[in-house]
Amino acid sequence: MATQTRTQSSSSSTARSLETDVQFVKGVGPRLAGILAKLDIFTVRDLIYHFPRRHEDRTRFAKVSSLRHGESATILGTVLAADNVKTRGSLVLTKVALDDGSGIATLTWFNQKYRKDQFLKLKGRQIVAYGTVAEGRWGVEIANPEWEPYSEGADPLSSGRVVPVYPLTEGLFQNQIRKAIKGAIDIYVPLVVEVLPEDLRNRLDLMDIGDALRNIHFPESQAALEAARKRLVFEELFLLQLALALRKRGMEMPGHGTQFKMPENFREELKQVLPFELTKAQKRVVKEIAADMAKPQCMNRLLQGDVGSGKTAVALAAMLIAVRNGYQAALMAPTEILAEQHYLGITRMLENLGVLEISVDLLKGSLRSRQRQQVIERIASGQTKIAIGTHALIQEGVEFHKLGLVIVDEQHRFGVLQRAALMEKSLNPDILVMTATPIPRTLTLTIYGDLDVSIIDELPPGRKPIRTHWKQIGERKKVYHALRTLIDQGRQAYVVCPLIEESDKLQVRAASELAEFLQTEMFPDLVVGLLHGQMKTDEKDAVMKAFRAGQINILVSTTVIEVGVDVPNATCMVIEDADRFGLAQLHQLRGRVGRGDEQSFCVLICEGNSEDSIKRMQVMSSTSDGFTIAEEDLKLRGPGEFYGTRQSGMAGLKIADIFRDIPILELARKEAFDLIDKDPNLRHPAFKTLRKDLNKKYEELQLAVIS
Ligand code: ADP
Ligand code: MG
Repeated sequence: MATQTRTQSSSSSTARSLETDVQFVKGVGPRLAGILAKLDIFTVRDLIYHFPRRHEDRTRFAKVSSLRHGESATILGTVLAADNVKTRGSLVLTKVALDDGSGIATLTWFNQKYRKDQFLKLKGRQIVAYGTVAEGRWGVEIANPEWEPYSEGADPLSSGRVVPVYPLTEGLFQNQIRKAIKGAIDIYVPLVVEVLPEDLRNRLDLMDIGDALRNIHFPESQAALEAARKRLVFEELFLLQLALALRKRGMEMPGHGTQFKMPENFREELKQVLPFELTKAQKRVVKEIAADMAKPQCMNRLLQGDVGSGKTAVALAAMLIAVRNGYQAALMAPTEILAEQHYLGITRMLENLGVLEISVDLLKGSLRSRQRQQVIERIASGQTKIAIGTHALIQEGVEFHKLGLVIVDEQHRFGVLQRAALMEKSLNPDILVMTATPIPRTLTLTIYGDLDVSIIDELPPGRKPIRTHWKQIGERKKVYHALRTLIDQGRQAYVVCPLIEESDKLQVRAASELAEFLQTEMFPDLVVGLLHGQMKTDEKDAVMKAFRAGQINILVSTTVIEVGVDVPNATCMVIEDADRFGLAQLHQLRGRVGRGDEQSFCVLICEGNSEDSIKRMQVMSSTSDGFTIAEEDLKLRGPGEFYGTRQSGMAGLKIADIFRDIPILELARKEAFDLIDKDPNLRHPAFKTLRKDLNKKYEELQLAVIS
């Protein structure tokens, strides 16, 4: 293992290590380090593994005069002017004129007034802008471009080459992070230890780690970039699949779990608790779960069901089984709002048993420390039968008396790996993971390689499909007038504000401006509420409570309401700048309405600036089936397509995209499972480094297996 010896000797001859504080990298320093910390970059390793979001070929910039409708382009030009104009839909449009000598392009933003000042300050300076070109009212237009100030000469890393574009945070600029990463790569990449055995790399034609890291940031060529990406994606998925393979084997060993018996009057009790009859699909799934819970092995099951298919009732049935066998059950939600909603819903249903004999507790961050202590004590003593909370439930010193079942709601927010932390924590509870992310079945088996799958493929009866309409920005006023009619009939509505990825602060500002606009200009006589991610938990709670109670007519929100919120009287959703969202996300958002008997509506507002966004709007208007949408989504995301990857469902994966990288995923899975078959404990010396890395990365997953 030549690589290994080399790297070891070089690391012992110097005090430098990958764990060195990032501030000591050339060109970083304490101030920049403070900003990088916001991106969770603390060490040199973190910095090297902060991968570009995309690359830009700046061996040439496109000329404005030769831009074609529909293409993606990067242009370099001088800011001439910036202005706000009101459109017919009484929306504010910011226009920025950019001159590159060959022509003038207009950059546009909707309802982000502050952009005007931002760009007036840059008047006469050069900026680089990237986006989809449209032939618009003002000639060549780019809506919602990505952009950054440009300074030539000073920064050869940002021009004349294929340039990496990184995820940023407030106060951080591309050229700064490029310099920092370049500095880190030059010195530290030789310290990165190769984990993939040489013969595996040779056989699969994978680049070695050093070259891969250098080329993923500053590629020598397009081909080198692709090879680098392939290698890094493979490594990431291979380690994940190894961990899954090891766990699945560990899981299959009998005698680890609890054998829950079917409670005597289970059916009657369930009937008593639920305010409705279970659908056929729900019944079938409950049966599958009950059968699994009865086995001596641990249940490890994924429950898939489209938004609104009624997963909560199924969860309740499973919890009832655990509780009636004398065990505790935990239900974990991705947000406090959701945890609270589950708490309310489940307590309400259990009250149907008459005396509330199954005690339910909610553990949330906003509890005062005394209350919190009391809840923790009740959970520890076993008095609490059902504990509901966020993932804080499995952290922070919460001990259960006799935990038998853990249910994780909306898994895609948790990430595969957190699930494992649970198992370590407690005895060996059965685990049910619920998700509304429709993933084609083959893909499910591959990603959640160690899970069994149940699917609810039917919606509760009487559901009217949500009517979805796509409207142009000019029709915006009409949309809000129509909304008033619904509100006059006693309904409530969500308005989802445009997605701004570059900064949370700007996102909050956009949301606040939209809420203010609606309150003052459109609905002065109604109550408009606001919900966004930067609010404190109790503020969010208060808003949700008021909305649920009908005291708020219109709730303006960021995507924090994307998951699971259930207010049946809210029958209309307006999504502003809808083409900024991916299909899967639009589907999740839309799922917040259509939850009662009333006809529900969803209005998507956007211009449709590219073929792709037009296609997405058409898909959304024509179907409400999650699986169809997932498939369309998959088709639409060609390589080089970047939005939407965030919700692809795998927190913890830095570079792999489970949709785009299916072939590599399949390869990694096969190699990993073959390897574990041949060498169950990875004893072979060639795997020494791999084993160490695996242990470190997925410690929680298989501690018992590799020692
Ligand atoms: P999701 O699968 O999205 O979590 P929920 O469990 O929140 O869905 O259920 C959505 C809505 O449908 C809730 O208001 C719930 O009370 C209702 N519901 C669930 N199952 C049924 C059923 N079998 N019949 C009628 N309504 C149901
Ligand atoms: Mg739900």
